[in-house]
Amino acid sequence: MDLYNGRLLVVDLTTGKVEINTLKEDFFEENVGGILGNIHLFEEYEEMDPLIIGTGPFTGTLFPGSCGGVISARSPLTGNLSHSPVTWFFTPEMKLAGFDHVVIGGAAEDPSFLWIRNENAVIREFPEDIIESWEITDYLRHELGDDRVQILTTGTYGFDGGLNAQIIENYWNSFERYGFGGLMAGKNLRAIAVRGLGDILLANPEKYMKGCLKVLNQTKNSPYYPEAFEKLVHSYSADPGIEEIKHRVDGCFNCPIPCRVFVKYNEPANELSSTDIEEPGMLLTDFEAFAILRKKGLNGEKAARVMEILSRKGIDPGVITSTKTNAFEGLLKEIEEISGIKEHVEGDIFLISRNNIANQIVAYTFGFCPVLSHMAEIVDYELFSQLIMDGADIEVNMVEVEGRINKITP
Ligand code: SF4
Repeated sequence: MDLYNGRLLVVDLTTGKVEINTLKEDFFEENVGGILGNIHLFEEYEEMDPLIIGTGPFTGTLFPGSCGGVISARSPLTGNLSHSPVTWFFTPEMKLAGFDHVVIGGAAEDPSFLWIRNENAVIREFPEDIIESWEITDYLRHELGDDRVQILTTGTYGFDGGLNAQIIENYWNSFERYGFGGLMAGKNLRAIAVRGLGDILLANPEKYMKGCLKVLNQTKNSPYYPEAFEKLVHSYSADPGIEEIKHRVDGCFNCPIPCRVFVKYNEPANELSSTDIEEPGMLLTDFEAFAILRKKGLNGEKAARVMEILSRKGIDPGVITSTKTNAFEGLLKEIEEISGIKEHVEGDIFLISRNNIANQIVAYTFGFCPVLSHMAEIVDYELFSQLIMDGADIEVNMVEVEGRINKITP
């Protein structure tokens, strides 16, 4: 099938059964993909208490910001079906591995990880004592012999039963705010690892590429380019304060407005060669949490160090909003305490802004980044309909899709 794979992976951790099912054209005509596809599948597999990862039609393609995927599950914090974006490189890799959606239900008896690779998947045992996110990622990449393997996991806090445990993307904080890291831990699932070496085929590559270029040109008008991380932090009325530690700007798969910054605080920020310092610093991904830390009076370096601790432990940086302390040590202690309380964001879908909500949900549906959708005016139903026609030769009823998107808007 062009643009899509037409494949659904269903994993039952309780029985150890792994099934590959076909998703027919009418599934995509009706649901497009992403969040709408996940909602449909949640209804079908609800009794397994599933965690569902979905890609959209544009995920992994030349469409700008096509790192976008969505993870949906019943939040252990709210009890509601909730949705968070998956960014960085996981979902493009999942699509190249041959799956549009992955449903993971049940709970394993022993610590396990799910290894998805090239139209196949297996559940494998995982060592009991490796529970820190950075160590989990290092261990898996070494064990699987490939540094490009993409990993979703959580950290020590999550595996100790912490409530506000966040899903970590390789080493770094995600935008997940619903305790899905805790849900993974409760399933005895230490990690989901994915690697795909397949292709995404297109019905009409030239026309599809032309449409993507049109979208790319629209991103050029974004006021967030360049220095998107700094501008996003400013949008929360905070001063980034990272001049001294900023090493490089980084972005997810195929992103034209990269909003991530690698900062170095264990060696000079301008050091370009590899030194014997094992961990030179941290990739700042959560601009909102960083802004709050800066407003609490922490300098850029200390705020970055807090973010490192949160990502290693798998604590949702969203809990920072509830802390009263400004001092570095006191803040860490208070975060540990607060993260044992059911704290969660408003609504059941992670939004980076309460403005242009529908545009962010569109990103969750079609498979691009909702942060990019916030930073650039790229939503165009007519063009998207044409792109699906050019990519998959499928006609989607966009009026219906728009209606469904507006209905799920929180
Ligand atoms: S806008 Fe930021 S989060 Fe979104 S794809 Fe680009 S780098 Fe990733």
